[in-house]
Amino acid sequence: KGPKSYTKEDVIEISSHGSPYILQKIMELTIQQGARLAKPGEFTQRAYINGRFDLAQAEAVADLIASENSAMQQTAIKQMRGGFSSEIKGLRERLVHFASMIELELDFSEEDVEFADRDQIKHLIYEIQSSLSPLIDSFSWGNVIKNGVPVVIAGKPNAGKSTLLNALLNEQRAIVSEIEGTTRDTIEDQMTIQGITFRFIDTAGLRETQDVIEAIGVRKAQEKLKEASLILYLIDLSKARMEEVHDMLVPVMESGTPFVVIGNKVDLLTNDELIAWQQRHPIIPLSASNLEGIENLKNHLVSRVKENKVEANQTIVTNSRHYQALIKTNDALQKVLTSLTIGVTGDFLALDIREALQHLGEITGEITTDDLLDNIFSKFCIGK
Ligand code: GDP
Repeated sequence: KGPKSYTKEDVIEISSHGSPYILQKIMELTIQQGARLAKPGEFTQRAYINGRFDLAQAEAVADLIASENSAMQQTAIKQMRGGFSSEIKGLRERLVHFASMIELELDFSEEDVEFADRDQIKHLIYEIQSSLSPLIDSFSWGNVIKNGVPVVIAGKPNAGKSTLLNALLNEQRAIVSEIEGTTRDTIEDQMTIQGITFRFIDTAGLRETQDVIEAIGVRKAQEKLKEASLILYLIDLSKARMEEVHDMLVPVMESGTPFVVIGNKVDLLTNDELIAWQQRHPIIPLSASNLEGIENLKNHLVSRVKENKVEANQTIVTNSRHYQALIKTNDALQKVLTSLTIGVTGDFLALDIREALQHLGEITGEITTDDLLDNIFSKFCIGK
């Protein structure tokens, strides 16, 4: 009975055996009696419209259903419980106060009074901006939680990139071959290690080549290097010479992406040879083919990600719609600051403040359009 249901409306739930035939029959009967199928996300949309929660919380329901790892699940739960929403609402309330003061001024424009102290507005805007920026910055980590950390596996042909990818993924995903340059395209796969999802991207060898098809692969590899959060650069320790390592790393360093150098094929080296390498270069030694050192590499990956992690208690923005709205809010506030500096009249100030308010309101759904709602809820699954 509403309002105690999810949608706050009266609800009937029918439980039956899982037989597809019985389910089909029940559907037919209820539809004959005037029911219709729910649209994707319709239950959650109704819950939102009936005030069960705000828009950001409704979106967290979809994130929770889609969560693939514990970090994703935790952030979605936090957002669903309203942590993020109350931060946004708090910011909004403070701006609303000033907007109304300025609008009051407009009513008395003939008398030339200033209800809203200009210095105080500036102060408030600085404060709001300093609350916005950690939220905006958290999105890069939020994106990592949601979509996985892109890790590129690079290195010369035959360094063992495909073998390493297979070792990490624990399955024969890439084709391993002894002929140089056979990994022509990029291959991508993901796995979750200690609660963090990684997207591993194997690339064609990074070397100059006359082979046209392979050249396409090389170009793609260079693009992928730039997009990655981390590069694993593989060296075949049994073949490489210590002096050439620096040259090999030039394209990696040019990409500006953080990297780790991995010394592969340690099984082909004597202990002394390995020690000599390690004294010369900071490498993570392993053997991709016999899995020696793979666990160590996994631990290293996890700790690299955790180094960049934001404060445990901080709100993390994972939704790109929210991220865009926060950026737009910040831009509008910047305009207010500029207007204050130039000393524009109250009516223009009010416009900019309203714009900031509008963008903040879009996050929690205080301000929405039908298009926006359709777009959000159509991405839900049916029955949610
Ligand atoms: P890619 O061109 O960098 O993708 O290299 P592959 O993964 O295709 O490996 C090239 C060759 O090196 C294959 O014959 C692999 O079996 C071999 N290989 C890869 N890793 C190791 C390793 O750790 N030890 C040894 N002995 N051979 C390896």
